[in-house]
Amino acid sequence: MFESFSDIPNPREASSAIQSFLRKFKTKVCMAKSPACSSTIIDAHTLSKQSMLRPISRNGHVYSLIPDLYNPSADGPMKFALTGIGDTSTFSGFCSEHDKQLFECIEDELFACKPQQLFMLSYRAIAKEAYLKRKQAESLLPVETIRKIHQIGDDVEIELSPEAKLFNAASLRGSEEIERIKMEMDGILTSGNFMRLRSLIVPFKSRPPIASNFVFSPDLDFDGNPLQDFEDFSRDLDPLFVTLSPFAVGEYNGFLILSYIEGRGAAPLRFIDSLLQQNGLETAITWFLFVHTENFACEPSWYEGLSASDVKHINYAVRANVDFSAETQASLSEPLISMAEWRGDQPFWI
Ligand SMILES: [Zn+2]
Repeated sequence: MFESFSDIPNPREASSAIQSFLRKFKTKVCMAKSPACSSTIIDAHTLSKQSMLRPISRNGHVYSLIPDLYNPSADGPMKFALTGIGDTSTFSGFCSEHDKQLFECIEDELFACKPQQLFMLSYRAIAKEAYLKRKQAESLLPVETIRKIHQIGDDVEIELSPEAKLFNAASLRGSEEIERIKMEMDGILTSGNFMRLRSLIVPFKSRPPIASNFVFSPDLDFDGNPLQDFEDFSRDLDPLFVTLSPFAVGEYNGFLILSYIEGRGAAPLRFIDSLLQQNGLETAITWFLFVHTENFACEPSWYEGLSASDVKHINYAVRANVDFSAETQASLSEPLISMAEWRGDQPFWI
């Protein structure tokens, strides 16, 4: 690997490749399955600005992960930085009309665990994932560009590393699978049958210092037991939708929401059961978020109060998630950080 940007034989070509890579992630498209789009594609939030980011912000800022492709460090291609809540967690994935119409029930209404609200939180996660996976599959550098960057002649064969090949295969499988889940969710949205989604809700009296929203396919539970076979290509993996939000409702100041589509495989439910059996639920949840997503925001006073070793461990967990060249995967069964209590109340199902 090259130590720094200027060590690359052709920095200008590398720079334009990075620019084009970043532009792909900004492609504007509406992920709603309806013909009535407005003409403007907006920077749609995946973490609601007012109800999820504002409560944990300081002077309108939170800590979130931003890409840092120009200065790759030992911690990988992303880094924590203070970001304005208007720019945090956005993607160009909805037109102004659909962003308003679809998410009104979360943006403008108080959170009340309504099936429609729970569904829309999950829908947002799958729309963002479908958007990203499409871009990821499109973003592999053409061989011609790799030749120019590294000044490799036509006479030299370019061979992708086994890690890169595996990453490409997984990306492709992931994007096809996510498309099918997105279609199933579009079907539920059209029918209005929001109870197809089952959700476990854990209310907290203290406010969690983190907001997050994502979807993933659980591979291992919190004790390291396998939940589904990632090498079995004959069936789709089953997704779990996750939201941790500082919604303020009555005596509560935060909610963990875990949802799955009824009638599919048992992995999501087994994952939930395993989480609920953990001692130190806050630690298990927080570590789990860092291991499985990059779509989170952290309260500045909490993040700045972390010890150097906590920061190192969090970077390790996050890196295994965002960088395919990371050598080891952080394990859910061995959290390397420890969280204060959020005074959780009895979990319940909807
Ligand atoms: Zn639209």
